[in-house]
Amino acid sequence: RAKDSGKNDYQFYESTMSTGGLERLKLEGDLRYALKRNEFVLHYQPRVNINTGLIVGAEALIRWDLPDRGLLWPLDFIPLAEESGFIIPIGEWVLRTACLQCRKWQDAGVPHPRVSVNLSTHQFKKDNLTSTVDRILKETGLSPGLLELEITESAMMENLEKAVATLQGLAELGVNVAIDDFGTGYSSLGYLKRFPIGALKIDQSFVRHIPSNIDDTAIAMSIISLGKTLNLKVVAEGVETQEQLTVLRNYQCDEAQGYLFSQPVDADRMTEFLVNPSGLNLSDLFEQ
Ligand code: C2E
Ligand code: MG
Ligand code: MG
Ligand code: MG
Repeated sequence: RAKDSGKNDYQFYESTMSTGGLERLKLEGDLRYALKRNEFVLHYQPRVNINTGLIVGAEALIRWDLPDRGLLWPLDFIPLAEESGFIIPIGEWVLRTACLQCRKWQDAGVPHPRVSVNLSTHQFKKDNLTSTVDRILKETGLSPGLLELEITESAMMENLEKAVATLQGLAELGVNVAIDDFGTGYSSLGYLKRFPIGALKIDQSFVRHIPSNIDDTAIAMSIISLGKTLNLKVVAEGVETQEQLTVLRNYQCDEAQGYLFSQPVDADRMTEFLVNPSGLNLSDLFEQ
């Protein structure tokens, strides 16, 4: 997981973190300065149209490049950032950086590049979310229609009435919203039709076992047909095998992400993919 020789350091970090105490405090202290020290980076994972095999955009995924320790992945610090409240400024940095990057893709001549940004529960619950998003779009000059916010099912279901209001505010801005990790929480299906959203992302825990596990496959198929009924785009995450892609395509899933196409890559690499899509060599995958 960790970059280059940082592997042992990462394991060190993980074991000390689980003991809590001092190391955890230190990490929290480091988190306080990470933004100022410019230690966060965004990687991007291509999102692919299942019908055409073309890249339609990218999901921004944060990493923390701690000096001498290698890359930390979100699960190692996002929960801590949530607890300490640092997630709010970090989340703003993510949003601004992703919007700026998407703007650069547009300037490089990529037609309609879309960027997806993950929002934490905290961010979604904050009263000024809509105005923050509006301000960042204006600051970066990105068209709202190119931005998609990914919000987990559980964050949305926590306070349904408030969620509807927030989603309406975002929709008025022209920003798209996708429900992330769909299928893992308790969705109130009746509310789904009241949510002004654009997409459902099938959680990778279901995709992973297509087609060997009948239940998981059935759940993925149900989400695809639910999406069709409600006129939502359905995106499969964690697609790793040709077989999964074939099944998902047969069931008319709209888009997919996963290691089969590409791992998350740095901004330069993602730019190459977008400017010269044949560099990803997806055509073989879609011929079969
Ligand atoms: P997510 O939004 O559901 O992102 C998908 C995760 O699956 C990413 O992990 C991605 O690297 C990984 N993934 C993609 N394709 C495959 C695949 O084919 N197989 C497998 N096994 N995994 C795959 P990552 O980058 O570690 O992010 C984990 C979670 O951390 C994300 O889940 C998201 O909830 C959160 N996260 C990431 N970036 C941000 C951020 O900027 N802000 C916030 N609030 N949360 C973030
Ligand atoms: Mg996501
Ligand atoms: Mg997800
Ligand atoms: Mg997830």
